[in-house]
Amino acid sequence: MIKLGMAWFVVIVSLFAIVTIICLVRTRRSEKEIAPFVEHCLFWLLVPILSNIVIAISDDLAICRLCFTIYFISTTILLFYFMEFSLKFCNYEYRHPLFRPLLLGMVAFDTISVSLNLVFDHVFMVTTEPAADGVDVIFHSLWYHKVHLAVSAILLAISVITLATKCIKSSRLYRDRYLIILLATIGTSVWESFHVFTNGVVDESIIGICAMGLFIYIYAMEYVPSILMDEMKKTVLATVSDGILFFDENRDCIYINSAASLQLGLGLDETGPAFEKLLALTGEDREESANYNAKVITCTKHEDGEEYIYDIEFHKLHDLQGKLIGSFAKITDTTERSKREKMNKFLATHDKLTGIYNTDRLFDEIRQVITANPDKEFYVLASDIKEFKLVNDRYGRAFADKLLVKIADLMREKVVSDTTRYGRIGSDKFGILIEKANYNEETFISAMREVPNLDRNLVVPIIIHIGAYEIEDRNMPISAMFDRAFIAIAQVKHEADLKVSYYEDDSRAALLWDQKITEQLDNAIITGQIVPYLQAQVDRDGKVVGAEVLVRWIHPDEGFMPPGRFLSVLERNGRIAKIDQYIWECACRILRRWSFEGRDDLYLSVNISPKDFYMIDVPECIIGLAEKYELDRKRLRLEITETIMMDDIDEKLKTIDKLREAGFIVEMDDFGSGYSSLNMLKDMPVDVLKLDMIFLKDTAHDERTKKIMSLIIDLAKSLDVPVIAEGVETVEQVDFLAKMGCDYFQGYYFARPVSLDEYEKKNLSSAS
Ligand code: C2E
Ligand code: MG
Ligand code: MG
Repeated sequence: MIKLGMAWFVVIVSLFAIVTIICLVRTRRSEKEIAPFVEHCLFWLLVPILSNIVIAISDDLAICRLCFTIYFISTTILLFYFMEFSLKFCNYEYRHPLFRPLLLGMVAFDTISVSLNLVFDHVFMVTTEPAADGVDVIFHSLWYHKVHLAVSAILLAISVITLATKCIKSSRLYRDRYLIILLATIGTSVWESFHVFTNGVVDESIIGICAMGLFIYIYAMEYVPSILMDEMKKTVLATVSDGILFFDENRDCIYINSAASLQLGLGLDETGPAFEKLLALTGEDREESANYNAKVITCTKHEDGEEYIYDIEFHKLHDLQGKLIGSFAKITDTTERSKREKMNKFLATHDKLTGIYNTDRLFDEIRQVITANPDKEFYVLASDIKEFKLVNDRYGRAFADKLLVKIADLMREKVVSDTTRYGRIGSDKFGILIEKANYNEETFISAMREVPNLDRNLVVPIIIHIGAYEIEDRNMPISAMFDRAFIAIAQVKHEADLKVSYYEDDSRAALLWDQKITEQLDNAIITGQIVPYLQAQVDRDGKVVGAEVLVRWIHPDEGFMPPGRFLSVLERNGRIAKIDQYIWECACRILRRWSFEGRDDLYLSVNISPKDFYMIDVPECIIGLAEKYELDRKRLRLEITETIMMDDIDEKLKTIDKLREAGFIVEMDDFGSGYSSLNMLKDMPVDVLKLDMIFLKDTAHDERTKKIMSLIIDLAKSLDVPVIAEGVETVEQVDFLAKMGCDYFQGYYFARPVSLDEYEKKNLSSAS
């Protein structure tokens, strides 16, 4: 039966026991580092609580005696764990590694000693005494009880010192939680002491211990100081790079962080005008802005010549019932990001070196302009630097870059109009769209002249070609329009011509022809489509002394082709050497056969293109052939034109000497067609002079030409160089040439170029 005086105690302590059990369960589930320490405390708190409840309700001496024993033992263990909790809670360690074993030893000793009270009765005794509501159990303290109290006091003192030290050392923000546990500890200790000295039956101070358990749980497991949170939020808000502003429900600013104060040009406490300032920045309407929620507005601010770009976000805040409690704005400075994006966008559409449009952007722009102006006519122009690779190699990359930048600058400067677009469409290629009405060829020709003047010390001139295509088919891909402008460039015959070349319908056909010829050449040689034709050369008596070998292409589709139809293409792309070598070999083979047939008296003269000297080692090749066919070298004559002396004169002179020394007769072909023929004669060591047929065309009526021819022949004679006239078509021409002293003749008057068969039929059979 519960004694009435104890009822209140039993109820309160039981309630605490329930609460402690709940806290214990929650602590076990927690993963916090301190949880095991709290758990030990709570568990060992339950034991004295329960034993005290039993003492309070029981009047059985044996049970009370056992419960007192349990109570004493469990409080010692509880105090030990409380001490461990305090150290952990305050983030301290044992000062010395021996302290813990020592203290544990002490606790063990006390536990055993108290347990032995059941045998020796040295800690306490309990007796009963009649009372109004039954019997009272009286507690008698014996000598060891004091030792037990001393052990408890030591453990308690360590906890108190730990907590007190932490209270002194820690920041104001954290002090509360240590202080509360410290005060609870001291209060409970005083209460406990009071109980000890009054020798009460049940320990009412257990209520204090229960409260302490609760504090331990709350402050170690649940409590986060609100002031700490506030401080942290404030610090974070103050230091973030975004501007933050809080507004109450009336949109009066209640907080502005330092980033926002800088962005809006306000002091940290100048919250009054903040909302108006924000509106001014966004340019938004006050009324309308009241409805903004999660809205982002991008705006620009100009200050001290700088441009700032901000993203401003407005958010509304509601309570749990959905009522408006205020709003906040976040200002993000996107200036750098925007600049970067702008730069990336620029680089994606512009050429890095020159800063003008790149191909994709130019083509897009051109498409837009021509679509937007259907009634206007346009040209597409393309420019190309001749031998740009050579310019790079010879003058270096820096110079070549400077050249490209200069071209871009010229375009910026000279081709300005609403509808003009220009860009870089290849390493050395630029493209322009220009309205026909604004187009002036002279502008471009003068620009072509201006660029090579970039550096006046250039040895090799820089030549820029411009091709133009007048847009007729607007639906054509822009790239195809530029292809046409480039086709026009490919048709430029003389590299040094400074003019804009225009795409015409036959330009394309011409280009296709060039490609066809070039592609088919190898096969044409293999299949015998390329054949040598021979044109007889005669002496003053009309006797055939030899022949010039002239190439012909018997094409399966095109039919009979004279060299005029294909040689210039092959000359331009260097493939001429291939066909020449083939014809030379044909000539050698013919001579060899003639030699076997006893016609060693006839020679053949072959043409050597100036381009051959760039492509192959001419002397090595010709000497090789002569050796292969065991030729009498005098019978293979070599026709070269004075144009080979255009550059590398010394080198060319050496080559000619080499050929002459090897025993070949070198003839100067087309003498007089060039500009500096006489000058050349002085330098060029040749064996025969071949007068160009241009003279004969003029001589019919022109006495002056006749005089010049006569002089040339005299000059040649004085140098001991025989003269052969080509293009002799009439008997009159033969007469006056003979009179002037011309030694040999070649022309339709005597014979046209004919096939080998025909030549042999006519000349070899009649002579033999
Ligand atoms: P070329 O070396 O001056 O050859 C003479 C050209 O004059 C030949 O033209 C010939 O057919 C033509 N001809 C000859 N007599 C007369 C005449 O009385 N009146 C007129 N109007 N023309 C006459 P073809 O065969 O068309 O050759 C043209 C040029 O092509 C040659 O001029 C030569 O420079 C070049 N050529 C021809 N075959 C070869 C070759 O195998 N290799 C190289 N590199 N060039 C060649
Ligand atoms: Mg010739
Ligand atoms: Mg000639």
